Amino acid sequence: MKYTDQNPPLVCMLSTSTCYQKTRRMEPWGVLWHSTGANNSTLKRYVQPADNDPRREELLQIIGKNKYGNDQNHRTGTTGMNFWIGRLADGTVAAVQTMPCDYRPWGCGGGNNGSCNDHWIQFEICEDGLKDEAYAQEAFREACELTAYLCALYGIDPNGMLSFKGKQVPAILCHKDAHTLGLGSNHADVLHWFPKYGLTMQTVRDRVTELLAGAEWAPEPMKPVQPQPAAPLTLGDRLLSKVTPRLTGPDVTDLQTRLNALGYNVGTADGVFGTGTEAGVMAFQKAAGLTADGKFGPASYNAMLSMEAAKTKPKTLCTVIIPDLDEAAADLLIQKYPQAQKSYG
Ligand SMILES: [Zn+2]
Repeated sequence: MKYTDQNPPLVCMLSTSTCYQKTRRMEPWGVLWHSTGANNSTLKRYVQPADNDPRREELLQIIGKNKYGNDQNHRTGTTGMNFWIGRLADGTVAAVQTMPCDYRPWGCGGGNNGSCNDHWIQFEICEDGLKDEAYAQEAFREACELTAYLCALYGIDPNGMLSFKGKQVPAILCHKDAHTLGLGSNHADVLHWFPKYGLTMQTVRDRVTELLAGAEWAPEPMKPVQPQPAAPLTLGDRLLSKVTPRLTGPDVTDLQTRLNALGYNVGTADGVFGTGTEAGVMAFQKAAGLTADGKFGPASYNAMLSMEAAKTKPKTLCTVIIPDLDEAAADLLIQKYPQAQKSYG
């Protein structure tokens, strides 16, 4: 784990911010993720030491200086986070503690059922333009490291579910999740960002569990995770029939191709089970002695296999002997079947 008791995150308390000064204490139960929704990945935009911070110069060196004085510590704000994650002055991505963990954050707002602010340690991740996957992966990793550190510190089970305000609330969740539970305001973070790269809040719980177990951080795949194509459907896997919306798939194409081959013309094998395919199935079923209901299930499939086997059975070769044929008729036969032979006697 990157952060431990001996190696905690950098501290730059936003001690002159409104939330820091006015909020009450809370008992931390879990960790709630945010991201800013603004294109600025530098911590200095939001996190600056107070003017009276004894480490001010050192912190400005590390974080960088906000020339505009519009950081969270120098303006009246209605938000307050326990941590921030973003780029330090040297460009590395790091977490900075901005309020003690038991200061109730002004983070996720509230919903119909209450607010996760009452018990969830919260941090904000500085977004960039959401186009740079390398940054997203770095920020995600840092946030997982911070979450693992907080879980270790407060004995939080990363996969835990907590009973709160009549809801079952994950110990680790994001602002969007809190909103869905009626425990936060209507924001999309962080689910408008990380899932673009296949990273979900379940990924967070899995990674945090691994980190807590002492695992090294495994490199994340750098390619966006494509949705896995479903295993190709093989004819016989499912009941095929004409429904709305139309069934499609390689199994339908296969059915159409095989009906055509058996002489039940269903037209082009386009992989869509429509009226033509249904008519073909019904004709086939009738020929096979089945109920012609147009639904191609196991019985129809087995009948198809038998019919195909019968069709492809090699032709039996046989010899015909026609006794006492007159010479002219025999010559006619030999014209038609050159392999025929005459014999006398
Ligand atoms: Zn948020």
